[in-house]
Amino acid sequence: MKCLIVNKESAEKARKYLLRYGLLKKGYKVFSKESFIYFPISGISEEVKRLAQFGTIGDAKFEKIKTNKNYKEELEKIISSSESASKGYDLLGDIAIIDADPKTARKMAKLLLESNKNIKTVLRKASAVKGLYRKRSYAYVMGKRNYIAHYKENGAIFEFDVRKVFFSPRLSYERQRIASMVKNGENVMVMFAGVGPFAIEIAKKAPKSKVVAIELNKYGYKYMLKNIELNKVKNVIPILGDVKKMAIKYKNFADRIVMPLPKEAHHFLDSAYIVAKKKAIVHYYSFVDKEKEFEAEQMIKEFFEKYGAKVKIINKRVVRPYSAKEIEIVIDFSIAK
Ligand code: SAH
Repeated sequence: MKCLIVNKESAEKARKYLLRYGLLKKGYKVFSKESFIYFPISGISEEVKRLAQFGTIGDAKFEKIKTNKNYKEELEKIISSSESASKGYDLLGDIAIIDADPKTARKMAKLLLESNKNIKTVLRKASAVKGLYRKRSYAYVMGKRNYIAHYKENGAIFEFDVRKVFFSPRLSYERQRIASMVKNGENVMVMFAGVGPFAIEIAKKAPKSKVVAIELNKYGYKYMLKNIELNKVKNVIPILGDVKKMAIKYKNFADRIVMPLPKEAHHFLDSAYIVAKKKAIVHYYSFVDKEKEFEAEQMIKEFFEKYGAKVKIINKRVVRPYSAKEIEIVIDFSIAK
């Protein structure tokens, strides 16, 4: 391939010239050998001749640049040739999490590691999210064998072992949305706090607020402590324990209650009632049938009316698709006791 060979000293000037006149041949890697830089070039001979002012016109072999577009297309191909693989991946710091059978996963992982410098590890979802702690199993696929994520979100950083706790980057918008609603100085209770993302993002946004964060899984609690330290927040009160048992300690405490346990939150409405001040706002997450999107509203109203409290629905939205039949929703409502 035709090329321009220049001294390192004149390389910058040459590069600028080549770019300005569109003479740099695209799709190939510029390389250096000894004290010379080799630029692949294209163009009519008149133009090429003028390049002699920078160095020598010669001939060399160039390596092709693999563009992201090619990677994307290749990734699409791999995914569509498998019945089970789902599109896209979650990125938790430098750990990419994919959802595919082992063979497809290996092919995807190879591409991801080659095309994205930020990815160091590829893991594969090896089970559903399940159990009391809402955990998932992961299988190692390729790259560095690491399960500890360092993940940044909305200006905060979170460390956690993906195998030992629940964490979903898909709730990042929700965490930002709730944090932006909190008034500085409010008392906030985050039930089901996990490694602390809701509590810490709220605490950062509202440094005068007290944010009580309750988590049952000791690993979730352990990482919450670590994350409180990493984010240097002083106003989170982390608690290891069961919301049902802890609620009474925080009777009439909260101006705002966050309930991010979509599978089970309805079992904790009584705890929310205990913890709520005379007036409070609740953010209630739930998995529901796609067809019966906001049936939960009625249930919530009926539940609090039993206690003689009034419920006003403020806002409701779909958080994310969950399964073939179900979606996750959030209902923001106020109660007046
Ligand atoms: N809010 C976190 C975690 C949500 S997952 C986030 O957004 O990432 C729900 C969490 O609730 C899990 O970590 C689970 O261990 C915890 N949990 C389940 N039952 C609980 C209970 N009765 N009391 C306190 N925490 C509970």
